[in-house]
Amino acid sequence: MSAYETSTPKQLTVQTPVQYIKGVGPARAEHFAALGVMTVGDLLEYFPRDYQWLPPPEKANRMREGQDISIVGLVESVDYQSYRRPPIFEAILADETGYCRVVWFNGGYLRGQIVAGQPLLAWGRAKRYKHQMQLTNPKFRVLPEGVTPDMESLGGAIYPATAELSSGHIKHVINQVLPEVSKLIEETYDDDFRKANNLIPRAKAFEWVHAATNDDEVAGARRRLKFDELFLMQLGLAMRRYRMQNFASAPPMKHSDEIDSRIRRRFPFLLTEDQENVIKEIVTDMAGSRPMNRLLQGDVGSGKTVVAIYAALLAVANKCQAAIMAPTEILAGQHFQSIERYLEGSKVRYALLAGGITGKKREKLLLDIEEGNIDIVVGTHAVLQHDVRFQRLGLVVIDEQHKFGVHQRAQVRKDACPHCLVMTATPIPRTLAMTAFGDLDCSVIKHSPPGRGEVVTRWVKPHDRNKAYDFIRARLKAGKQAYFVYPRVLGAEEASDVKAAIEEHRVLSDKVFVEFRVGLVHGQMSGEEKQKVMDAFRAGDTQVLVATVVIEVGVDVPNATIMVIEDADHFGLAQLHQLRGRIGRGQSKSYCLLFAENETLEAKERLDVMTRTNDGFEIAEQDLRLRGPGEMFSTRQHGLPDLKIADIIEDNDLLLLARRCAVELVTEDPMLTRAGHQNLRKVLLARFGQSLQLSDIG
Ligand code: ADP
Ligand code: MG
Repeated sequence: MSAYETSTPKQLTVQTPVQYIKGVGPARAEHFAALGVMTVGDLLEYFPRDYQWLPPPEKANRMREGQDISIVGLVESVDYQSYRRPPIFEAILADETGYCRVVWFNGGYLRGQIVAGQPLLAWGRAKRYKHQMQLTNPKFRVLPEGVTPDMESLGGAIYPATAELSSGHIKHVINQVLPEVSKLIEETYDDDFRKANNLIPRAKAFEWVHAATNDDEVAGARRRLKFDELFLMQLGLAMRRYRMQNFASAPPMKHSDEIDSRIRRRFPFLLTEDQENVIKEIVTDMAGSRPMNRLLQGDVGSGKTVVAIYAALLAVANKCQAAIMAPTEILAGQHFQSIERYLEGSKVRYALLAGGITGKKREKLLLDIEEGNIDIVVGTHAVLQHDVRFQRLGLVVIDEQHKFGVHQRAQVRKDACPHCLVMTATPIPRTLAMTAFGDLDCSVIKHSPPGRGEVVTRWVKPHDRNKAYDFIRARLKAGKQAYFVYPRVLGAEEASDVKAAIEEHRVLSDKVFVEFRVGLVHGQMSGEEKQKVMDAFRAGDTQVLVATVVIEVGVDVPNATIMVIEDADHFGLAQLHQLRGRIGRGQSKSYCLLFAENETLEAKERLDVMTRTNDGFEIAEQDLRLRGPGEMFSTRQHGLPDLKIADIIEDNDLLLLARRCAVELVTEDPMLTRAGHQNLRKVLLARFGQSLQLSDIG
């Protein structure tokens, strides 16, 4: 990290490892490293989690009536007077100047907590009582024995601490370097910009965030630091977008009625209105020489793949190649099968570049791709990262399902600049789409194709398990199929859910569904094994499929109308919704049965949402409400640095402001070449460098 630039390398700089700070040393440095703090700069960005304000410290003999003070002393004696009304707990506090009486009404609970001989910090308003100064019902903190506490370090910032590093210690170390290092922090905005947007100077913000003495300072500091974080991110995205629009060029794709009807003939159904609209957007994008950069969102089964195939065929009609990438081999295989189905009898040449194809066969395939003998290549994301060369790649479709990677997209761009369509089955709330995909245009398919059976979702309590089995058995007898899915136990190894699935497979096949065939697929099987199991299920050779979450997304077996999710309370909403997307693909009514025993409030809310709605966007909003952006949407997954202080949900207003400012700045000075923007440019490069591929602007 280095969001700051330093000008005096011999002194302490933001790059200095923390172990060179006085009083840190190698052992402590390791404890800091565990917190992700390696350098002085990291330390500056190790932000407090809270603040506590103490009134000014005072000595016992200098206390004045009516003053708010804090005092540190040794507890000289304690006394509990239970006979008084109200009962009183009294402590005498001694410091080097004298004594202070401290009383708590109804203080019985303090017995054993405040004991003689202990250092104590108390703060409140001083009052005279019988010629002696006294604190009545003050707030207090028991201090560790044998330490002379430094009053300065008792109030103010409170840091996220560990067993090895207390908040007080972290604070001590930060305060030690703060005066010197804050001098090195350069301002990134001019005064007009700062004033217009109500931002305090950057150096001040760092000083105050760590050493604030009141809430106003904290608020000012946090606003500035959050803004910087959001602004840098938005600026990075805006610049990348600018660069793409102005310097990258992709082959323009001509579109005509003839091409259109030739492509449409491939689909045995009418396109839905949503599909039509998205196709219009894509056709317009691809007609230009600016590379398309579009995100297509739509639930599993909503018809995205059809749209992607339309785009691919448009590229092929323009004598270009298209690549369709999926996150797993299974999904790639499925895309390939769709393509086979739609393109039966056409002259378009397509191939699946699977991991299983090796040796001479692979060489031949790669050569065909390079010589342009293959029009559409289907494979996993890995395809684009390795040895595949295209003759004229015009379109890349990236099916991310529910993982996104700005990184991957960036890599695609390196050697060629094709049009790019990213598809995701995770509905992304607008706020997040903007943050994570600030440089993408977004399309949405809201309504799935008609003729889909209803999906009914039920939460099954433990005592109804056998009833549920009976119900499933009846459906299986009627020729339907069922999935049983196991969650990954939070934080556990893959092995543990594999074990659970293997065990369950045994129980289901030996005891519960004896008259049916039960398949098993899990994450520790090879791609080939998985494929075999999936094929058997698709063909109806097995009626029940027990799976760990490896079945993930996109598996398309319309006859499977039952989805049982075991320990459903362990899944997040987004994942539950993804899994449920596997059923309801045919015309018959489908059933999603959520088995859950846990009734924590949060689990209950999630399961209620699932039984209430099928709308992916509503579920995504609820998910966001229930648990914040979380892992699924973490910026790191998007190839962007994590946010340390800003929160895209909570700080939405600031995000909007940052975005507006970023767009304005890029319009005005796209490469940040003006003198006034040099510090900003340095910070931006330092922060994003590689991940946003901005290095070539520098
Ligand atoms: P996604 O990629 O969003 O998961 P697909 O494109 O694979 O969705 O479509 C899911 C299923 O719906 C496929 O079986 C496909 O043939 C069918 N389908 C897609 N579009 C239509 C449509 N307009 N009308 C009828 N069926 C459709
Ligand atoms: Mg799909």
